[in-house]
Amino acid sequence: MKVKKIEVGSLETNCYVLSSDGEYAVIDPGADADKIIAGLESSNREGSEVKFVLATHFHWDHVEAAADLVNRLKTDFYLGEKDLDLFQQSSDSGLSTDRILKEGDTVNLGSNKLKVWETPGHTPGSISLVEEKERKLLVGDLFFSSGFGRTDLPGGSRSDLEDSLARVVELDGDWEIFPGHGPTFHLEEKLNSSPFLADMRQE
Ligand SMILES: [Zn+2]
Repeated sequence: MKVKKIEVGSLETNCYVLSSDGEYAVIDPGADADKIIAGLESSNREGSEVKFVLATHFHWDHVEAAADLVNRLKTDFYLGEKDLDLFQQSSDSGLSTDRILKEGDTVNLGSNKLKVWETPGHTPGSISLVEEKERKLLVGDLFFSSGFGRTDLPGGSRSDLEDSLARVVELDGDWEIFPGHGPTFHLEEKLNSSPFLADMRQE
């Protein structure tokens, strides 16, 4: 599975274009639909379909271009079940949810399988996508190359975030982490630089 990062919007959100065997997906289209479509076109030469647009959580800086993209690409929108409250509060999103994701669901893309983990804390319905075969993990705003997701916004929970992190650090081996902002990094690297996380793994 190829993962292409496209930085969008004033908060420099990482929008990811995933591709596998001619199938495409867009994760966290936070702004700049034109830029995302240009990015898709440059990797999607045969005009293959975009299977879905997915938000790791329903915050404006991760979904602002979602409605525009879903309409223009004639595709579906996927969201974690426990962020439906945030979704419903935002009446002007112009979006409908075509698939509601829950813990343990699998989203297929080409020959790749993305397992859905509910990783709340930043929002109640934040999800991570786990590609076990290639050890790739998309975490939204759970944690970053430096620092952790904010828990002071509506629905945020510090203890939930810690539980979600505790789960991630138990993953075996080295994983490539694709966060919602900032550079991608490796889990081992992060464990080496964060005593907080390293302790969690040992507990
Ligand atoms: Zn967020």
